[in-house]
Amino acid sequence: MKKKLVVLSGAGISAESGLKTFRGGDGLWENHRVEDVATPEAWKASPKLVLEFYNQRRKQMNQAQPNAAHFTLAELESYFDVHVITQNVDNLHERAGSSQVLHLHGELSKSRSEIFADLIYEIEGDQLNWGDTCERGTQLRPNIVWFGELVPMIEPAAELVADADILLITGTSLQVYPAAGLVRFASEECVKFLIDPEGVEIYGISNLTIINKRAGEGLPALKNILIEKYA
Ligand code: NAD
Repeated sequence: MKKKLVVLSGAGISAESGLKTFRGGDGLWENHRVEDVATPEAWKASPKLVLEFYNQRRKQMNQAQPNAAHFTLAELESYFDVHVITQNVDNLHERAGSSQVLHLHGELSKSRSEIFADLIYEIEGDQLNWGDTCERGTQLRPNIVWFGELVPMIEPAAELVADADILLITGTSLQVYPAAGLVRFASEECVKFLIDPEGVEIYGISNLTIINKRAGEGLPALKNILIEKYA
């Protein structure tokens, strides 16, 4: 039976595809304060600005291509039972070929009713507009988990991490909760790697190797070690 390899990925894994991370030095996301574009309050106060912000993010995503890090994770499926838990709202993991991807914070490529949370639709192209409605006539919003909203997928994600033989953490500053707390569900025996070009604050985690590299460089190198030692 293949060993279970669980990946926790964040915005940094898509940086080499040209998508900006969330926390640049200025603390802004693409020149916006998160409070203005990624909260239920922002949606209530200025829905057209929020729709436009996500239309821009969707357009960038559709123009971007997966990078070596995304492709490496897809290739690892030949050797391990790979589950990707991502905070990313882009679809680059899927487009690289990963088949088991859990989106903690929703997906840019989908919309949902602002009232009926289970009415979810694929968005064709880049645009979701004011006046676009669900089959029951309510306004559609981006299918994104905003700051201050519950994270419905956190429990299945925690179960996957608890069951992992190998945990790869990459591209996340581990600042956004509850996602950042998932690391704590891994067992002591689980072999853990963190790949990030910057210092990420992480303490009290057993069996952890830190690799100070970009994901596009660090993951392909680690792939060979994982196959040799653990597959
Ligand atoms: P973050 O921006 O807080 O942290 C990014 C991390 O990636 C940092 O630790 C940084 O050092 C690291 N990094 C930068 N370049 C890297 C590279 N080439 N390889 C590996 N690591 C690299 O991101 P977060 O922790 O994911 O939190 C951001 C929140 O914003 C999430 O909730 C996410 O939904 C959202 N977001 C998503 C995207 C996306 O989907 N691509 C982009 C921006 C923000």
